[in-house]
Amino acid sequence: MTSSFARYSTGWAARAFIAAALILPLGLEPALSAEPQTAKQLFGGMTLPSRTAPASLGSYAKGCLSGAVALPADGPTWQAMRLSRNRRWGNPHMIAFLERFSRDAAEIGWGSGILLGDISQPRGGPMLTGHASHQIGLDADIWFQPKPARPMSVAERENKPFVSMLDKTKFLTVNPERWTPTHARLVMRAAAEPEVDRVFVNPAIKKKLCETWTGDRTSMGKIRPIYGHDEHFHIRIKCPADSPGCKPQAAVAPGDGCDKSLAWWFTQEPWAKPKPNPNAKPVKPRFVMLSDLPQACSGVLAAPSSSEAASTFGGAVPVSASVPAAPDAIMPPAAIADPSVPVPTRRPSAGSAP
Ligand SMILES: [Zn+2]
Repeated sequence: MTSSFARYSTGWAARAFIAAALILPLGLEPALSAEPQTAKQLFGGMTLPSRTAPASLGSYAKGCLSGAVALPADGPTWQAMRLSRNRRWGNPHMIAFLERFSRDAAEIGWGSGILLGDISQPRGGPMLTGHASHQIGLDADIWFQPKPARPMSVAERENKPFVSMLDKTKFLTVNPERWTPTHARLVMRAAAEPEVDRVFVNPAIKKKLCETWTGDRTSMGKIRPIYGHDEHFHIRIKCPADSPGCKPQAAVAPGDGCDKSLAWWFTQEPWAKPKPNPNAKPVKPRFVMLSDLPQACSGVLAAPSSSEAASTFGGAVPVSASVPAAPDAIMPPAAIADPSVPVPTRRPSAGSAP
């Protein structure tokens, strides 16, 4: 018995047997199924949000999102980019914030509004590509390029190149031909919003703000230097009160952050290649599994799907329809006028949070 199983468990015979089991309805699949999927495979494979009450579960870099709402691809003061990534999903508080912030951006002279990068996947969670955070619908990337007045096509949104704010011929230096006072106003405006927890930018950009910002510096400390983030900035909002399962980050240190912690970025240390340790044992990479996330995330994954139309802020409009239409047609003015209603107009009946 044992020996015959051992024979099957090695080499081509085992593979053939497993292949046959997967193809033929032998009823043996559970015992022979492939390795469990990683959390990023599970969450990266979801195309629609869960039909459950909105909630951010877990922490920014280890969690998931229940009852997500999508920001429409187009609005009066925003356009979402890279639509194929399907990462326009957020906690309803984040979606309401972005709608508001996009209007503020247009108001301070940032073109006709913002270009939106990634928020989260339909059910949040880890992603197959990019981002350690963005897992609970409370992180959003905003391009350092304003929204053009005309709606871009799907292909343009897919292919429009990023533009760095740095002069790449120098070490960690903002390009003065690209960075303008309006860029600074936009970032400072985001940081000043009470629900914003942190704003991530490249260290060179933080330095530039430290050196040139003459207005109110109360929120300067929320602007945190980090690798990358030279062609977009990243807004993180606080755990909303109605998401008790959301794990907040420690508060930022007091002060404006224009100090030693910033100066460190301009030393060799953050940019040095890690020295290989010849004595280190090769470590088998350990992937994040569903069991590593808050338990409620299993429920989010297993919950029935909501439809895109039902879970889009103001109702879904296909991006192609936006080309001839006036932007106002996309979101009813009533929905814009009342930012206290952060949920879509046609919301599914919400079940209890998983
Ligand atoms: Zn980001």
